[in-house]
Amino acid sequence: MNTVAVLGLGDMGSALARALLSAGHAVTVWNRSAAKAEPLADLGATVAGSAAEAIATSELAVACLLDYASVREVLGTASLSGRTVVNLTNGTPRQARELAEWVAARGGKFLDGGIMAVPPMIGKPGAFVFYSGPRDVFDAHRDAFAAFGGINYAGEDPGLAALHDLALLSGMYGLFVGVLQAYALIRSEGLSAVEFAPLLSGWIAAMAGFTEQTAVEVDRGDYSQGVVSNLAMQAAAFDNLPAAAADQGVSAELIAPLHRLLVRGVADGRGAQNLSSVIELLKK
Ligand code: NDP
Repeated sequence: MNTVAVLGLGDMGSALARALLSAGHAVTVWNRSAAKAEPLADLGATVAGSAAEAIATSELAVACLLDYASVREVLGTASLSGRTVVNLTNGTPRQARELAEWVAARGGKFLDGGIMAVPPMIGKPGAFVFYSGPRDVFDAHRDAFAAFGGINYAGEDPGLAALHDLALLSGMYGLFVGVLQAYALIRSEGLSAVEFAPLLSGWIAAMAGFTEQTAVEVDRGDYSQGVVSNLAMQAAAFDNLPAAAADQGVSAELIAPLHRLLVRGVADGRGAQNLSSVIELLKK
């Protein structure tokens, strides 16, 4: 019973199955469209005729499907009694907590996960996965998880892996918002984004150094210490970003939300504080 089942053989599920096989695990795979199982069969995986069959022959089932609705649809066809399901499908903390209850009600054990890698990175340095759910269940399957890359246990609450995953993705998308806006400005004058890229990545690397200091301010809830670039100054300078974009024929829609928050922050009396104080305006 030490076979690992992989349910879902899209780009990511196939990468997970390949990594398990490379690490020497016995792997049973299933995918809705059967053709995607063929390359895994060539690598030594057993191909199950149904998700129920894959789960029945494996103590651990890794689900990596499009969304939580498809996970429930697939798991709903199987008996989960005595089985462990680790769901590596992207979702929200609430979805993970609800799925944990749903699996438990069917007699299964559950972990949720968040994959911090693209498929070619799986099993290679730099890839890691968040896991959350009962510690003993997590510990029992560490060997299998090691095949995917780094392991980050986020806690017993099944929603914590998704919370950490989405927090990191928020940072990533924030980065891409800035990168796209910067290139749009550069291209508006017909300049080369490729030539500009080293300046941008160097600048982003320098600014990333403020991440830790911002965390200290946010945890303390005190945004008034060591202010060298106060919010009022930053809000005034930020006015130039949408203004220049408009002049250059570039939309400001990517940066408009932060602009509104800076203006609100100053109106709220936060002008002498650090930029980090706008986090207070995000609380609902
Ligand atoms: P793909 O689109 O490549 O694959 C989607 C998979 O879901 C396929 O196996 C598909 O089956 C299956 N599926 C969809 N709907 C159903 C359904 N109703 N019933 C059964 N199976 C279904 O996506 P990825 O593999 O790239 O992503 C899978 C998960 O991994 C997602 O949650 C994604 O967010 C996450 N992820 C992906 C990353 C990436 O870079 N690719 C990075 C990090 C996380 P079929 O082949 O039959 O269509």
